[in-house]
Amino acid sequence: MFKALMLDKQDDRTVASIQSIDEARLPSSGDGGGDVLVRIEFSTLNYKDGLAITGKAPVVRTWPMVPGIDFAGVVETSSNPDYKPGDKVVLNGWGAGETHWGGLAQKARVPGDHLIALPANITTRQAMAIGTAGYTAMLCVQALEKHGVSAKDGDVLVTGANGGVGSFAVAILAKRGFRVIASTGRPEEAARLRELGAADIVERATLSEPGKPLQKERWAAAVDCVGSHTLANVCASLRYGGAVAACGLAQGMDLPASVAPFILRGVALLGVDSVYVPRERRIAAWKAIADEVPVATIESVATTVALADAPEAAARLLRGEVKGRVIVDVNA
Ligand code: NDP
Repeated sequence: MFKALMLDKQDDRTVASIQSIDEARLPSSGDGGGDVLVRIEFSTLNYKDGLAITGKAPVVRTWPMVPGIDFAGVVETSSNPDYKPGDKVVLNGWGAGETHWGGLAQKARVPGDHLIALPANITTRQAMAIGTAGYTAMLCVQALEKHGVSAKDGDVLVTGANGGVGSFAVAILAKRGFRVIASTGRPEEAARLRELGAADIVERATLSEPGKPLQKERWAAAVDCVGSHTLANVCASLRYGGAVAACGLAQGMDLPASVAPFILRGVALLGVDSVYVPRERRIAAWKAIADEVPVATIESVATTVALADAPEAAARLLRGEVKGRVIVDVNA
């Protein structure tokens, strides 16, 4: 038996409870499970987990569901030639916690193709301090650099800077020599953002209201975690030839923008998905983040909660009350 956070649908409401599950109920290869059984040490709460656990958006596709889009742990048994008992592994995305049981549990059975080896220089706990959020921040920075953005081009804006993706984006960009401007609705956290590497802070409200289709050219590039009017305003204030890596929807899924910045300033809107990124890029992103972000920074962005406290923490996350990352100790 193992402990899991389980989501059930009751009268159109999502109900979360801690349950004791028989290992035999773990999905096997035919039904979305897999060939590697992992003893999970830590999971984490991302924005999407918040949506799933509170039922605020239709993240969960089959019921009942163990949420948790990522986890880190140790292989217990494996019929996959790439993994043996004792290997330390990380999983994020591939529909975990959405279409098949995810990481907010003490065990998971998954296809080996969905796993990567834990980078040797971080612990399973640090991997979940990074989590999908940190890994997505790295994908955003890599997308900007692949587009040709470099530190000498000028200021780079990060929206939703106090969140998980935002905090890591600030830290990674600053480490790579960019001058980072952090946009936040919590200016009282400015000192924390400066410690992560932000050179300056802008108030979220200056970006979140409807704006003109073309505005003063301010940013060479941006990482946007927020979407909606914020992303429209970011596009409208990118410098000629600039680019924004768009990964989030914390303000909204809409994009009330015009084509003006694209056709008059040649700016680029680079979409970033983390869930189905091919394995080689995934390994490279995890390695880069483990190598570049100091362990002290990784530790500083994270707080830890026990599995039973995950639903309450998920609600706080959606209310925008969480700073940085929430690690879930599934064995506490
Ligand atoms: P968090 O909840 O940790 O951070 C979101 C941040 O957005 C908040 O901390 C807050 O930052 C800001 N924010 C919240 N509400 C609003 C609002 N109404 N208007 C403007 N800003 C707001 O989430 P994550 O960092 O985990 O994820 C950020 C976004 O990226 C989410 O939308 C998530 O779904 C998405 N995401 C997408 C992925 C992908 O594959 N594309 C992968 C991972 C995440 P502040 O207080 O500083 O203003």
